[in-house]
Amino acid sequence: MKKIGIIFAMKEELEETKKLFNSTETHSIYDLEIYECKNENTICFLVESGIGKVNAARSTQLLIDKMGVDYILNVGVAGAVSNQLHRFDIVIGNKLVQHDFDLTLFNHEKGFIPGATRFFECDADLVKIAESIEVDVNTTTGVIASGDIFISDKKMGEKINKKFNALCVEMEGAAIAQVCYLCKVPFLVVRAISDSPSEEDNHIAFDEFLKVSSNTAAKFIYNFLAKVQ
Ligand code: SAH
Repeated sequence: MKKIGIIFAMKEELEETKKLFNSTETHSIYDLEIYECKNENTICFLVESGIGKVNAARSTQLLIDKMGVDYILNVGVAGAVSNQLHRFDIVIGNKLVQHDFDLTLFNHEKGFIPGATRFFECDADLVKIAESIEVDVNTTTGVIASGDIFISDKKMGEKINKKFNALCVEMEGAAIAQVCYLCKVPFLVVRAISDSPSEEDNHIAFDEFLKVSSNTAAKFIYNFLAKVQ
């Protein structure tokens, strides 16, 4: 039976998924609560990592080292930076990049991380399974850009879209991707659109739509898990 680690940044995101599963056991590691949920073909370990790249990275390493997970899913909400996307659309990441990683003065491309790469690739088989899921919202596959900033500036959103061909922005996915890359653990990032830096006051939209967009992401991942072995 496959062991799957599922990382959420925020409580709201975790709760929407957790209520779809029966959690059988809770593991406490440091300040983290890891909820073990068994279904027919998988054992899932759900954790709220906290917001941002550092929190996401340490939770990833803990799930790999302490729980021995076979792969990692990162599920949550994101801001759209492509004008093809609408609120509640699902983005299936095929590549993750850290838009705030900048060694351009040393002739590295923006986002390039020495000892690693620039674009971290999600596991192709997991992407394929995600793409095969039928849901009542639009799903798009593409680049997701992460950084330690809530993007609320329209111009900044457009810049990230252009530079990385990114569909959406969030604050954890590419950190999880980097740890998985270094540990050779497959991963997938799935996000539902909660807001867009192209709208005014997207932090208010974010708050307003967090629960519904988290629920959209949760339902998607629930269907996804029914398909994996
Ligand atoms: N309301 C929270 C802060 C949320 S930060 C607080 O008060 O503590 C936004 C979270 O949602 C991050 O986990 C990030 O991954 C995601 N996200 C959604 N929209 C985003 C955007 N426009 N820019 C960056 N991250 C976004």
